[in-house]
Amino acid sequence: MQFSQVVGLKDIKKHLTQMVLDNKIPHAQLFLNQEGAGGLPMALAFAQYLVCEQKSDTDSCGECSSCQKAQKLIHPDIHMTYPVIKKDTKPPISSDFIKEWRNQVISNPYINEYEWLQSISKEIKLGNITREEASQIINTLYLKSFEGGYKIQIVWMAENLGEVGNTLLKIFEEPPEKTIIILIAENLEAILPTVISRTQIVKINAIDEKDIIEALVNHHHLDSQLAEEYAYIANGNYRKAQQLVANELETFGDDLKEWMIYCMRGPSTDLIKWTENKHTKSREYLKKFFEYTIHIFRESLSSKYTDNSLAPHVSKSEIPVVQALKKYISHNNLYQLIPLIEEAAYFIERNAFTKMVLLNLSIQIRKILK
Ligand SMILES: [Zn+2]
Repeated sequence: MQFSQVVGLKDIKKHLTQMVLDNKIPHAQLFLNQEGAGGLPMALAFAQYLVCEQKSDTDSCGECSSCQKAQKLIHPDIHMTYPVIKKDTKPPISSDFIKEWRNQVISNPYINEYEWLQSISKEIKLGNITREEASQIINTLYLKSFEGGYKIQIVWMAENLGEVGNTLLKIFEEPPEKTIIILIAENLEAILPTVISRTQIVKINAIDEKDIIEALVNHHHLDSQLAEEYAYIANGNYRKAQQLVANELETFGDDLKEWMIYCMRGPSTDLIKWTENKHTKSREYLKKFFEYTIHIFRESLSSKYTDNSLAPHVSKSEIPVVQALKKYISHNNLYQLIPLIEEAAYFIERNAFTKMVLLNLSIQIRKILK
């Protein structure tokens, strides 16, 4: 991946290339990115820039043999760690899923964690970066570089390291020579402070709307009016813009619409059926669904205060839900609702009985909104 293929983020690209040109590359960096802003594509472009044999001041060449290997995610000195799930009795490591990883990331480096985990398992499981994977990282980084240049270790969704991060502190602090470590994360609070303090943070904020418009017109061949609409809704999240193009957000929208109708009607067989149906979904799905619900609640509140010509950050098909919720949502009740939803997400993530949590949450939402 070249920097030119990463959507927007001109300043970050400049910052990264400049540190290479100045030969002042921190040995451990943490790319803290907003969801859909492109932390992974940026790390891949940076790694390729580091190994490229004919780089310019602004980008890798894309043609030398190092670039070709980097593009196919087969460069022997670019190592990748990502959350995986258990498939047999032994603890999983990233390389168990290398084939799937290459397929998914080459086809779309803007893939999110939920989509990645879905692509490797249809079962209800959360991803993990295991202690065994951490040992693998240490062993690999102490080996000599295969091609004589930099060795690069990328850790995608480093939140999944959890306590395992402790076993990597030494290598983060004093990695072997010519070793560059790049952690990518969206949620700083989920990373051990001891890990954070050993890295240099590169903040990757939401992508500029004009850059998303340009990418949608160039890569998805949208007309400029539709590209503008989608870029506005995506609000700096390129993955969301892609989903709008592919119409992939529909199912969350329909689920939420149904839920709110049943919630407001109060306990009924419909509501119970709805919770039973959600009970069969993966925890990752529910986590995303709760995030989506909070997003729509917030948009409903903000649509109360914006003038009508300014549509909230939602798609056309979501406007009716936002309009309907607008009547019930206020500043006060939104700040009661968000912790409740987050708490439900927390319980479900930790194995609570999904059906009961959802039913209880529905009843509380009804009380608050009424
Ligand atoms: Zn090159």
